[in-house]
Amino acid sequence: MAQRPVNFSPGPSILAQPVLEEASRAVVALEDVGLSILEISHRSPAFDKILNTARDTIRRLMGVPDTHDILFLQGGARGQFAQVPLNFLAPGTKGAYVDTGAWSSYALDEADVLGEAYALASSKEAGYGALPDLSSAALDEGTVYVHTTSNNTIYGTQWRTLPGFGDVPHVCDMSSDIMSRPVDVSKFGLIYAGAQKNAGPAGVTLAIIDKAWMSRGRDDIPSIWQYRVQANKGSTYNTPPVFAIYVVGLVAKWLEAQGGVAAIAEVNEKKAQLLYDAIDTSGGFYQATVAEDAHRSRMNVTWRLPSADLDKAFVARAAEIGLASLKGHRKVGGIRASIYNALPLEGVERLAAFMKKFRATH
Ligand code: PMP
Repeated sequence: MAQRPVNFSPGPSILAQPVLEEASRAVVALEDVGLSILEISHRSPAFDKILNTARDTIRRLMGVPDTHDILFLQGGARGQFAQVPLNFLAPGTKGAYVDTGAWSSYALDEADVLGEAYALASSKEAGYGALPDLSSAALDEGTVYVHTTSNNTIYGTQWRTLPGFGDVPHVCDMSSDIMSRPVDVSKFGLIYAGAQKNAGPAGVTLAIIDKAWMSRGRDDIPSIWQYRVQANKGSTYNTPPVFAIYVVGLVAKWLEAQGGVAAIAEVNEKKAQLLYDAIDTSGGFYQATVAEDAHRSRMNVTWRLPSADLDKAFVARAAEIGLASLKGHRKVGGIRASIYNALPLEGVERLAAFMKKFRATH
């Protein structure tokens, strides 16, 4: 097989080689069952074991306390944009949203359709190139949750320390940095993430939810959308995405073998620093779209070259030498290197070396 390109795709994105190999074997036959992972019942003992192992491994990795349930849902992160207000926005209550980019604004728009929602703070005016200051943000009366996006996949910002909102439940979209660093789960009402960046393939959404808060959710909505129903049924109320959950379990096992979340966070920091250094020492040839280090993402590093033509040439030349999917999101342009957990340090070293060479020859 030809050498794999280094996969800088923003999502679905790179998976570790041992995960791909084990998953491919399971597509033919699970060792202890003799049948493919694609053809076993979600009510079989074999799948029970797969689901429980995935859940337990995530619980260990993230230090999820007993106060919180771990759910495997469908509908992606956008499904959560709707499910959160559906469950928690009753008439007369409000959801507060910290608007740090396209994804958080879509989440706010969706909540606005279903109930009353408002932007607690926004960095839209700054083109989302920084995080908003929350020091003077005051919650409206009747606010029942605050929604944040921990990492902004498109604009390349990330909360290094996630804000807190006292007793008001904090809902956090961690789609693009879940399990990339230690997080105190006990501080959240709900953490959710489409798995397809740091946690596995597309098709399953992780939701880690405070049980006490979950029990106060609405019960006058369709049962399929009630978190409590999925929790009571162990995420098998409807047929779950069996294969995606299986692969999430493999990713979690792989991450444990890497030393866990704290260990991978150190590697992630090193990887990001390599790229930010290459940008900041380029004499202005590369310009970071996020100026302040404290706001810069460790997952999606975004920058521009002096012209759109050079951006294009950079992406094309990089692809030729096996550095794939570096084109920035169409809203931002330029370059975006998505360097999730599974992207190895050597891949980033190759990109940093290419950046030096490209600058020297252009
Ligand atoms: N939130 C964030 C932070 C994202 O990066 C994405 C996808 N790129 C989404 C939400 C939407 O995810 P999905 O496609 O799973 O709905």
